[in-house]
Amino acid sequence: MRGAWAEIDIAALNRNVQRLQERAPASQILAILKANAYGHGLIEIAKHIQGVGAIGVARVGEAMRLRENGCQLPIVLLEGFFSATELPLLAEYQLQPVIHQQQQLQQFLGYRFNTNIPVWLKVDSGMHRIGLDPEFAAQAYQSLCEHPDVAEAPVIMSHFACADEANHPLNMKQQQVMQTLASLSPVRSFANSAAIVNFPAWQQQWVRPGLLMYGVSPIRSESSESLGVTPVMTLKASIISVRSVKQGESVGYGSAWTASRDTQVGIVAIGYGDGYPRHAPNGTPVLINGHRYGLAGRVSMDMLAVELGPGSAVKVGDTAILWGKDEASQQQLSVDDIAAAAGTISYELLCNMAQRVEYDYA
Ligand code: PLP
Repeated sequence: MRGAWAEIDIAALNRNVQRLQERAPASQILAILKANAYGHGLIEIAKHIQGVGAIGVARVGEAMRLRENGCQLPIVLLEGFFSATELPLLAEYQLQPVIHQQQQLQQFLGYRFNTNIPVWLKVDSGMHRIGLDPEFAAQAYQSLCEHPDVAEAPVIMSHFACADEANHPLNMKQQQVMQTLASLSPVRSFANSAAIVNFPAWQQQWVRPGLLMYGVSPIRSESSESLGVTPVMTLKASIISVRSVKQGESVGYGSAWTASRDTQVGIVAIGYGDGYPRHAPNGTPVLINGHRYGLAGRVSMDMLAVELGPGSAVKVGDTAILWGKDEASQQQLSVDDIAAAAGTISYELLCNMAQRVEYDYA
């Protein structure tokens, strides 16, 4: 028996990359591996991923770990550098910063790297998070081109706020701004997973898939299957106890679930200390031996309970699947459905995978 473990299907990851390349045939892929590759394991995913042109992470520390573990792919820092003290690291670790605000731009322009530093210029097209105001984009682009260590055309980059809602009015507004930006550089990047699907015209030279590459749909009305991808992670844990509960008895902290009949519950060795969402309500599905059972009571730090029903054949040592696929029965449990039940999004559940979860790569 084991506690919680995540099985990572590398073949599925690389098939998903291929599907993405088919969707965006004219674009290179900047594979987004920030936040521990969305909980899939930064180093292992970087080691095994095929067919991508570069890797995107948020922070310098993530990029340094990649280099120190032998990653030779181009690495883009999606938040650039945080202070001027990080500038020497760009040259030392061969990192491509995203420049997104004026102070950063000035620091970059005032520094000599003495090696070629490819650079990305992020412009705010309406999300109003990070990115230069569009009116400063042309001047900033020009000044980057004049930097003696910038040998290639800077990539113009922007980000959609609502790409997962194709009809949201902000998409049109952002596309109008992107249209004006497009003439600045021959190399542009506007599309995350949802935009790759919903706005193929905005795929441009570099697409930036995260979630879809891990086989999870970024769009609520679409499933992994309908988008032609396979979930890369299956999260599992052992059943460490099976017990009988009489009608009217409750299970777990706060007595938050009461048996409506004489029944059995299985105790699964996974809890919020492993990253399973504590707010998953009673009835949230758990897959055991090809059958769906419902969560019974509050999720604890190290375990959770499922109602198995009277006379269940489930026994200690059986494996529960919290999300992902059951090879034996071909049943699937989408991380998106678990996230929706718990009032969050699949991104958060994947990124919240805790350190003690074991990883099996195959
Ligand atoms: N590009 C940028 C700038 C991002 O911040 C992210 C993720 O948050 C992505 C691309 C990938 O997004 P997704 O996982 O929705 O494809």
